[in-house]
Amino acid sequence: MTDLAIDVGGTKTLVAVFEDDSVKPSEVDRFPTDPYAGLENFITRLSKVCAKYVDPSNVRYWGLCTAGAVDVSTGRLIWSPNLGWKDVNLYERLSQLFGNQGIVENDCNAAAYGEWSARPGIDSLVYVTVSTGIGMGIVSSGRIIRGSHGAAGEIGHTTVLPDGPECTCGRRGCLQAIAGGRGLSSQVERLLGKRLSTEEIIDLAREGEPEYVEIVVKGAMFLGRFLANMIDALDPAVLVIGGSLGKNPHYRKLVVDFFAKFYYILPDKTVVIEPPSAEPDPGIIGVLQLSRSMGVRKNEKSDKIFSS
Ligand SMILES: [Zn+2]
Repeated sequence: MTDLAIDVGGTKTLVAVFEDDSVKPSEVDRFPTDPYAGLENFITRLSKVCAKYVDPSNVRYWGLCTAGAVDVSTGRLIWSPNLGWKDVNLYERLSQLFGNQGIVENDCNAAAYGEWSARPGIDSLVYVTVSTGIGMGIVSSGRIIRGSHGAAGEIGHTTVLPDGPECTCGRRGCLQAIAGGRGLSSQVERLLGKRLSTEEIIDLAREGEPEYVEIVVKGAMFLGRFLANMIDALDPAVLVIGGSLGKNPHYRKLVVDFFAKFYYILPDKTVVIEPPSAEPDPGIIGVLQLSRSMGVRKNEKSDKIFSS
């Protein structure tokens, strides 16, 4: 019995193969997503990579996660600014390859579920990813909290500083325009006239370069304060901060220090902040576990998980 988990990122796609009921992959592979070559081109390359490790007719369950708004009831990707794909039924396309026992999920939701499933005994968990943008997934009592429009956790575009830096969404002062990777780079370019990677910017701040310290500390302050307010509102058992920028030791420490300064302290309230622990990737473990749990429900009810 072979299960397949796929995480489609803006830059690279991760494929992992799992035998029987193991949560340790027997095979892991990566390839460039190259989304602007088009969806059909991507599907062809994906099927070739998967075929190296698994006979498509032998896949038991498959799961795919990706950045963007996903209608999980149909497996349709509504819109992904990172990939440039719009109104694509990924479930239909993948089920043509691997059968209809699969799920399509938003990557932050999948990552939250993956981290939750990696911590037995935890009731609720919030996963925040801080990289180019900022996103969040929420799991409570084993359920992903999606909201009424499937848009719960879209924290990157919440306004934290009216009239602040311009965001890719066209508005000003969004959380990710101030504290996300692209936001930090844009501010450095606009204020200091330099084009630098997020890592270079954080390194210059860590070395004490005043202009960079100001931008980076301001970003961390807004993010730490936002997370403190959010944790005060939701009170999860664990907050996991992931993403390339969220895992950067210098930036992470700044954010966590600001968090500690702003959150509301109550007797017996313990806030647990942890790095991601699900390997090879929280989203991969999330879609693996979701597809398996959907599979259980599928066998109970009908031959198809979705009516497409
Ligand atoms: Zn925005």
